[in-house]
Amino acid sequence: MLVLIFNLEIIIVAMNNNKRKRHSRNDVSKKNQKPPSNKEQEIPSASTAKRAKSNEPSKSSNFFEKMRARLSGGHFRMINEKLYTCTGKEALNYFREDSSLFNLYHAGYRTQMSNWPEQPVNVIIKWLKKQSPSFVVADFGCGEAFIAKSVKNTVFSLDLVSNDPDVIACDMANTPLGSSSADVTVFCLSLMGTNYQTYLEEAYRVLKPGGWLLIAEVKSRFDPNTGGADPEKFSKAISELGFNSVKRDFSNKMFILFYFTKKEKKNAKKKEIEWPSLKPCLYKRR
Ligand code: SAH
Repeated sequence: MLVLIFNLEIIIVAMNNNKRKRHSRNDVSKKNQKPPSNKEQEIPSASTAKRAKSNEPSKSSNFFEKMRARLSGGHFRMINEKLYTCTGKEALNYFREDSSLFNLYHAGYRTQMSNWPEQPVNVIIKWLKKQSPSFVVADFGCGEAFIAKSVKNTVFSLDLVSNDPDVIACDMANTPLGSSSADVTVFCLSLMGTNYQTYLEEAYRVLKPGGWLLIAEVKSRFDPNTGGADPEKFSKAISELGFNSVKRDFSNKMFILFYFTKKEKKNAKKKEIEWPSLKPCLYKRR
């Protein structure tokens, strides 16, 4: 399937390139040509004249646009499903093999987000702007690093791929950040791997006592009526890891926001934490 989609895309890109080449060849040769006499001038067909008047794209370019959008939507959904159904370590190897998939993923992600009435990353940025600018922030699964670009704080942006010198490429289960070095850790739609609890354990290590843990996740992942996790159980597991639950915000249509702070004292080691499994967030074809 992937091979088929890639092949189709290659054919389309090649066809478009040929079209472009033909145009540019014509442009070059036109430079050396005398303007055609009235007699030689091409008479536009009725349909081209109509299109030119209305500035409408031709039927074929419409077709290619639609095809391109459909193919990149397909790529996005495949990469997205992969990230939700493998471990962070596997995801890191996947992107190491072909880092261009990361850009494809984020192009699709941006399109999806543009349909949401409010973007969780913007709610987090608003919250951060009300906190002390001296807070050190660690953005786990930063994507295009919008937080670092929007606030004055020192922000460590972490993701599987770094296309930006300010982004640290790593699996967020193992970051190069020091223990007790951050005041705020953020997971904005990034608890994707099947081993998501290891990311939270890493955030616990990185946070100073009293530091904040903010988690924004897609609402459907926490809807027990549709196979989602019970938010109560999720909060309980995080509390057992060593956090206090401060607030849960259900007011947004598409996502939930959890606010925790790291306990000043470590929990006494008890039984294993029961982490609820978080179902993948699979986006529909539009
Ligand atoms: N937080 C950003 C991007 C969300 S998309 C925003 O709100 O705009 C989720 C991001 O998490 C992706 O960029 C993906 O690569 C990253 N991610 C998923 N698993 C990861 C892991 N194990 N380690 C680091 N980044 C990870």
